[in-house]
Amino acid sequence: MSEGVYGEQANGRVTHSLLRLSTAMRSQAWEWAEGAGLTPTQGEILVLLMQRKNPMRLGEIARETALTAATTSDAVSTLESKGLVEKRRALDDGRALAVRLTTRGRTSAKRAAQWPDFLSKAVGTLQGDEQAAFYRTLLKTVRQLEVQDDIPPHRMCLTCSHFEPSKNAKKTPHHCALLKLNMSDTEVRLDCSVYEAADAATQKKTWKIYAQ
Ligand code: SF4
Repeated sequence: MSEGVYGEQANGRVTHSLLRLSTAMRSQAWEWAEGAGLTPTQGEILVLLMQRKNPMRLGEIARETALTAATTSDAVSTLESKGLVEKRRALDDGRALAVRLTTRGRTSAKRAAQWPDFLSKAVGTLQGDEQAAFYRTLLKTVRQLEVQDDIPPHRMCLTCSHFEPSKNAKKTPHHCALLKLNMSDTEVRLDCSVYEAADAATQKKTWKIYAQ
């Protein structure tokens, strides 16, 4: 069998497996959300607000969740009517409104963040080196989806100006110049609060080194 045909088959099987995972995730997310009296989208917004810690504007929420402005606005209004979020004037712009969690919303967000536990359990059965290879592969896939404009950009090390890939000896090859931190493959961050986007040339250089 030629390498091209084998590659196509592997590509198809990986894609098929990912679709099966997405089916499981959708079904688990709905099961959890129905039990909590929410939709998966509302749960996702609660978790996002909890992770970001700071109030977020509707536009930011829409961008981060890849939802339309109308869907985001509807979901936030429902959460507001349930007393889980509240809208306040943004600190940096008195004319804009920012959304933040209420105390009850924070409790719901903590619960909502637990629905993917079934997946963590399955991933936890993999060996350490399998998890590291899996995470590295997923990060590369996420980055490629960003390049294709299929998902919103993440605040991740791979596109950060402070990231120095493959700088050290094998165990912790990567380095964060800002936090002065050496990182193993599994410590590379997908969402970092002190992220600063690198310019296009630096991102290209980082990617070339990391993707090797
Ligand atoms: S600042 Fe955050 S995103 Fe940037 S390299 Fe350091 S850990 Fe990674």
